[in-house]
Amino acid sequence: MDRIIFLGSGGARIVVFKQIRASGGIWLTLNNQNLLIDPGPGSLVRIVSSRHKLDPTKIKAVLLSHKHLDHSGDINNIIEAITVGGTEKRGILFAPYDALEGDDPVVYRYLRSYLEKIVILKEKENYSLDGISFSCPIRHEHRTETYGFLFKTDKIKIGYIADTKFFDGLINAYKESEILIVNVVREKPSELDHLSLEDVKILIKEIRPKICFLTHFGMTIIRKKPFLIGEELNKEFSNMNVKIIPASDGMKYEL
Ligand SMILES: [Zn+2]
Ligand SMILES: [Zn+2]
Repeated sequence: MDRIIFLGSGGARIVVFKQIRASGGIWLTLNNQNLLIDPGPGSLVRIVSSRHKLDPTKIKAVLLSHKHLDHSGDINNIIEAITVGGTEKRGILFAPYDALEGDDPVVYRYLRSYLEKIVILKEKENYSLDGISFSCPIRHEHRTETYGFLFKTDKIKIGYIADTKFFDGLINAYKESEILIVNVVREKPSELDHLSLEDVKILIKEIRPKICFLTHFGMTIIRKKPFLIGEELNKEFSNMNVKIIPASDGMKYEL
């Protein structure tokens, strides 16, 4: 069954590194294949201790949007887990060039041969995995090379907007999303390159997804309580056919 599991819903430095909310990324099952997106700190522990009975050796591919530690902290542990310490060659890693070959690459070189394949992500390129295709529709505006993903199966289109500053190009890039997952770090816009709630409202209005999940919350969002933010947004968008769901740690949504 297709499903989205939010291993953690925390984002950015303070929330993740104090573990005010868990981190660990998103487990996405589409067409009976398991994808792990952005395995931040704690991902492996969150997976093996999940009440949803997740098995890391069943992960087909890991997708890294960018190399910041709140997205990549557990990538090496996850490679060991998928391949049972390198004894079983499997798993495909998709990651930006900067995360693999830039200054301070985040994937240990000695682990790379454990994987079935490593693919360097490129803007606008299409990738396919048995019945799922996905693309990186646009390069994000973030401090390091960053992409989001647009997944397509014959049943559904899901957009994942990873860390980025708001810019108009995001709207067209993710326009097809029926389900939209947005990393929203801040309550109010700031000079830092992250999305705020104001930016999310523009994205919802313009992209018009059926469901919009909010996740990767920073301190200013946590203080306002994500469930209250969700209630307010659903009221504000009650004239549109959209449901806004703030993620919580371990939350599962069946598609
Ligand atoms: Zn982040
Ligand atoms: Zn980042």
